[in-house]
Order: sequence, then structure tokens, then C-alpha cells
Amino acid sequence: MSGVAQRGPQKTFYLETFGCQMNVHDSEKVVGTLVQQGYRQVETVEQADLILYNTCSIRDKAEQKVFHRLADYKKLQAQGKRFGVLGCVAQQEGEKIFERAPHVSLVCGSASYRRLPEMLVQLKNAQLENVGAPSKPRSLRLGWEAMSLAPNLTVIDPHPAKTAQGRAASVGETRDSRLGTQDSQLVRITGLDDRQTDECFETEFTARNNPHRGYITIIEGCDKFCAYCVVPFTRGKERSRTSASVLAEARQMADLGYTEIQLLGQNVNSYKDPAGKPASRKSFAELLAAVGEVTGIRRVRFTTSHPRDFGRDIVAAIDAVPALCDHVHLPVQSGSDRVLGAMQRLYTREQYLERIAWMRAGRREIAITTDVIVGFPGETEAEFAETLTLLEEVRFDAIFSFKYSPRPNTPALSLEDAIPDDEKARRLDVLMARQKEIQIAHNKNYLGSTSEVIVEAYNPGRNQWVGRSSQNKIVNFMAPGGAGPKVGAYAQVVVTACFPNSLAGELVV
Ligand code: SAM
Ligand code: SF4
Repeated sequence: MSGVAQRGPQKTFYLETFGCQMNVHDSEKVVGTLVQQGYRQVETVEQADLILYNTCSIRDKAEQKVFHRLADYKKLQAQGKRFGVLGCVAQQEGEKIFERAPHVSLVCGSASYRRLPEMLVQLKNAQLENVGAPSKPRSLRLGWEAMSLAPNLTVIDPHPAKTAQGRAASVGETRDSRLGTQDSQLVRITGLDDRQTDECFETEFTARNNPHRGYITIIEGCDKFCAYCVVPFTRGKERSRTSASVLAEARQMADLGYTEIQLLGQNVNSYKDPAGKPASRKSFAELLAAVGEVTGIRRVRFTTSHPRDFGRDIVAAIDAVPALCDHVHLPVQSGSDRVLGAMQRLYTREQYLERIAWMRAGRREIAITTDVIVGFPGETEAEFAETLTLLEEVRFDAIFSFKYSPRPNTPALSLEDAIPDDEKARRLDVLMARQKEIQIAHNKNYLGSTSEVIVEAYNPGRNQWVGRSSQNKIVNFMAPGGAGPKVGAYAQVVVTACFPNSLAGELVV
């Protein structure tokens, strides 16, 4: 299929990403795919022909941000700019987005990204055919032909009676009755995924932002259905990539000069190698070790791990392979067995602590971080206190804490005893204050120690370099004499000061 840019002047796009690392990496793949199609990425919405938002719906606030952004730039539609919503909000809200933001032309869930080029050709064709005939849109027939190559795409044709002699009924739905005159000139294209999709977004065209550290997706979707979480609905069923393709991508990255790889998935340790003879299929720990052994790769991280599937073999791999970083992110969500049960996490506090004990018994000092939700429906003060005692018991290196946010389709929506927002906010404050004290005390242990860091940035204002240790700690440092290392280099830094969220030190020369 020909690319959009081959038919005229180069088209430009602007892409803003909301949410987690999975979304950031999806955006890198979307950018690579569009650039390969002849598009050019630009820095501002004003410069762009096509404005894309890769969205997050994990909490209501994240979802609302997208609609605010769409409202902020709505007026640019009059200049012929087109708007697209990608990712989790797209998948969750589907065609309802067109009602709430009628200037949107494209809605595409993450498992349909491979078809984005086809969808954009379709959109472009429809636009071309409408040029010069704003009040009387022309036939979309060319587009319909293109769509026949992509059976999962739906074109919402605002003028079905005038297009393709009734073929619209077989490929799309009509929504024009709700649209005003101006809106009806828009063509709407959706690529929404079936939860049962087997598609992974594997592409050789990944436009990685950072030349030193990069992401590799190893598993997509989620089958865990925690009671509060939209991910199983927005990202579809769990599906793993083959270990062969993951390793090929890791080797390719090493050849390009990357030294750090982060393996990504909603639950990386639920990984199941889908191909090869049973004996040659790799477990997650084996895949992790194999990526850590790729020549040229100095650091491997992985996120996120689910406590239920966290085995001792992961700790053994970290012990055995020097390139695997001393850091595990293991979300606990709550310290109360009753709340964990209501959340459908399928592990107990004791089982979680057992996994912490495995890590503490390892040969290396593994930094442990977690996610916590406060104010899940029915969480009592005593149950919240159990989360606080869990913090004391584990003494996490860092936590990401959230107020429970009710999400569409999730089982927790029907639970009674919602906690008022100001009480959730109070619990969040208490939790964060307690964790801050733990981090201040914990970070003092690093004073005088030497860490290897990868240099991530230089801050000229402060004449300071920003490094990250294997334990994922930010270490800001000065270089005696002023000549510091280059971004992407590895350096030894002695820690001379500590703060709740970072360390500071001096380059060892
Ligand atoms: N798969 C990972 C796991 O099992 O822990 C987490 C992935 S989720 C994208 C990231 C975090 O968002 C979760 O660990 C949870 O703490 C938080 N989260 C998810 N749904 C939430 C909700 N409805 N309200 C508040 N926080 C939520
Ligand atoms: Fe969401 Fe639970 Fe799946 Fe994590 S494991 S993505 S929290 S449903």
C-alpha cells in the first residue's frame, strides 16, 4: 500500500503521550510507523496536520486530561487539522469519543496500531475527495477498497446513502443522525480491538527517543482482572512475544549502541513463550537472563511484576547475571488480606512478604518498589493501618501511591461503601508522609558508598550530571575539575548527600 506522503507534500503529525511506560513505548512504535510512511513528527500542534493523543484511562484524572486537551485545540479543526485518539481511552470509549469530541476523526485501540497506516490512507483519501465540495461530500469508494484489506476497521461514513451504493452497511455503521452540518463533513475511522485479539504490535520501525536505553515489549494485555483495573478491557488478553523475537530485538539494539534495555509488560513475569519446542521455550527468568547475556547490554530492567507469578527463579537470575539490575517493582496494592481479596489480587500479605524475603535472601541488594491504592471501597481505618505496617515491614525504596478511582466495566464499580474523596486524600497524605520518613532513613545508608550510574543528563545551570544507579536511584553528581562524562556513559560516583527521592555525590576519577 502506498504511503500518505507519496501523494503530495509531506504530512506532519504531533503526538502527545499520557500514562505508563507501555504507552510511551507504543508511541515510539507509532512514531516509527508514521515516519516510515513518510510523515514528519513536529513539536507543536500548530505545526501539525494530524494531531494524535495516545491516551491512558487507568484513573479518571488521566482520562479527563485527554478530553481537556481535545477541547483546548478544537478550534484548529477549522484549519483542516485532523485529530486522532489512540490507546486506552480510545479502546474504552470507542465511538462515544465522536459524540464528546466531534472534531475527532480517528479512534484507534493499541492492538490496531499495525493498521494505522491503512487508516490514515483512508482518512486522507476521504479528505481529498471532500476538498472543494464541503457541503456535498464525494464518494468514499477508493477508501472502501482500502478498507477491504483491513477487516477489523470500521469506517463511519456520514453520508452512507451517497457512497459506495449501499456497501457501507457491510463495512461500517452510520452515525450521521447525531452530527451537525459541519461535523457531517468529517469522516470518522475507528480501529477497535476485540479483547480476544492475538495481535502484538511488533514493528521494526520503532523511533526510540533515547539512544542509550530503550524498551522492548515482551507481553501485551492482561488476564488478571483485578477488581479495580481497566487494563484487561483496554489492552485485551494476555499474549507474549516469542523469546526469539525479543532476543533478536535486543541484539539489534545492542548493535545500534544501546546498553540498557527495559522489558515491558503489564505483568512481565506472566510471560509464556508461545513458540518453539516445549523444551526450548523460555520462562520469564530464562528470557531475562538471556537478554542480560546479549553482548553489549550492560543493564536490563523489567516492569511490572505481579506477586502471584513472582518466582525464586527471578531472584536466582538476578544473582547470576551481572547485567540484570538490582531492582524489582512488585506492586502490593494493600497490606490487608481482606482488601487484597476484594481487589481480586489472589495473594495474601504473607505470600507477598514471602517474595520480599526471597529477594532479601539473594546475593545482591535488590531495591524494591511498589504500587499502593488507598481508599478501595470498604477499606476501613484498621485495614489502611495494615498497609502502613506493611510499609514498615518491607521498607520499600519507593512507592507509587494512588487514590482508588472507579473505572468503567470493572467489578469494583458495584462495591458498596465508597470512601469519600477527602478521606482518600487524607489516607494518601498519611501514607506518603510515612514513606518519606522511611526513604530519608534508608537513603542515609548510601552515604560514603560508591555506585555505578548511567549518565542521563547534564544540568548546565547547576553544573551537575544526573545519573541512575542499578537500583534505579537518581544520583546527581559534580565532577571535580569540571570535565564530566558524556550522556550515556557509565561512571562511578561516591555518595556524599542524600534526600528523600535522590542521592548526590561526586564523580570518582
Ligand atoms: N500490572 C500491574 C500490577 O499488577 O500491579 C499494574 C499495572 S497498572 C497500569 C499500574 C498501577 O495503577 C497499579 O499497580 C495500581 O496501583 C494503579 N491502578 C490501577 N487501577 C487503578 C484504579 N482504578 N484506581 C487507582 N489506581 C489504580
Ligand atoms: Fe490491572 Fe491487575 Fe492486570 Fe495489573 S494485574 S494490569 S492491576 S488487572
